[in-house]
Amino acid sequence: MNTPVKKNDQLAVYIEDLTHDGSGVAKVDGYPLFIHGGLPDEKAEVRVLKTLKNYGFAKLLNIEEPSPFRVEAPCPVFYECGGCQLQHINYEGQLKWKENMVRNVMQRLGKIDAPVLPVKGMDNPWEYRNKSQIPFGLADGKVIAGFYQAKSHRIADTPTCLIQSDEADRLMRAFKEKALELDLVPYNEDTKKGQLRHLVVRKGRATGEVMVVLVTKHPKLSKKEAIIELIREAEPKVTSIMQNVNSRNTNVIFGDETNLLWGKPTIEDLIGDVRFEISARSFYQVNPEQTEVLYKQALDYAQLSGDETVIDAYCGIGTISLFLAQRAKQVLGVEIVPQAIEDAKRNAELNGFTNTYFEAGPAEEVIPRWYKEGKNADVLVVDPPRKGCDEALLTTIIEQRPKRVVYVSCNPATLARDLRILEDGGYKTQEIQPVDMFPQTTHCEAVAWLELS
Ligand code: SAH
Repeated sequence: MNTPVKKNDQLAVYIEDLTHDGSGVAKVDGYPLFIHGGLPDEKAEVRVLKTLKNYGFAKLLNIEEPSPFRVEAPCPVFYECGGCQLQHINYEGQLKWKENMVRNVMQRLGKIDAPVLPVKGMDNPWEYRNKSQIPFGLADGKVIAGFYQAKSHRIADTPTCLIQSDEADRLMRAFKEKALELDLVPYNEDTKKGQLRHLVVRKGRATGEVMVVLVTKHPKLSKKEAIIELIREAEPKVTSIMQNVNSRNTNVIFGDETNLLWGKPTIEDLIGDVRFEISARSFYQVNPEQTEVLYKQALDYAQLSGDETVIDAYCGIGTISLFLAQRAKQVLGVEIVPQAIEDAKRNAELNGFTNTYFEAGPAEEVIPRWYKEGKNADVLVVDPPRKGCDEALLTTIIEQRPKRVVYVSCNPATLARDLRILEDGGYKTQEIQPVDMFPQTTHCEAVAWLELS
């Protein structure tokens, strides 16, 4: 194998880019070397660890010229934990990197030349997560908890997680200390033994309500009252304590059985003026503050006057639909998970909306049928999962020609691909607004606005 560098070579490199998992990328005669911990615009001394045919890995030995954005990562387990990738870049640098990343992906993968605006970031890019799913384990007879290491199921024992809520932090610590006394031996994925699998903490940002879900292997809790007492003492804001039983050999967090242990079975939150009910397992955006920014942007781009019919494809629990319903004549939402559609209907009712209609099914089948039934949209909003829109849905849009499309995306690569298809089909992208929903990580959401040209 002929590569420009070989294992154990020591060399000086210029790091030019960052990958999705936060590794620096340097090129040696066009051959990419991935360098964990390295940042764009840095000159560094590295040692080659491994070479493959088309790329290799190197260890950062010494940074000769640091990036102006480099900071000491504040979290003590940053380099072990798989949760964050960008804590070693200050927030300004993170937002700049995301803006460039979105712009490059649009040009390179989609040949989209619409303006990409600066990323809308957070005033405080910490403690933003409203949901934490914390696995527990045992190491040398001691309970450990935290998050999984990158690409593995080994737990990085975390004293405190800087992107989760204080409430989740306090509960995690209380369980680390008391789990064994409460007969909650951490579940071991290899031996399949143990009781405590995950502690899930959810918080309504606007209401302050907190839900705790204890995911256990067996239904029986021998010290149920003491567990409830521990939770309520550790966090007085808890209004709901649930137990979910997952006895399967799986790394899926939840099982099918959910029981109420104490308090109410749901908590509530507000995004803008819209109220949402959250149950143990319902989908809900994890950064509600930025969700509001994202949805306001989608609403601005939709430019509703009150007379429009809007279709919201991939609507989840109807979050965007209800936001749009405040300004539209009618909103039709479609989503593949039936339970989410039940939540969407309940949330519409909770807020007194009478101009929404929700249906469960694949968007690419339901929307063509709606058009056949005469349900035409003036504006179409899509918010698909990472893999982007189904091609059949894009074909329907191009055939039916709604005047405006608003595309909310959590993956710039599939956004660029789909925008290209829509542009080839007669639309023109007007503007793209990235929104930082996940500070400290490489993820970036974006909203694109398209008009029929
Ligand atoms: N708009 C929602 C959810 C977006 S996440 C919100 O902001 O909260 C993407 C959603 O698409 C998920 O809820 C997923 O279940 C749904 N989904 C995935 N494939 C789908 C398909 N083919 N048709 C409709 N919905 C789908």
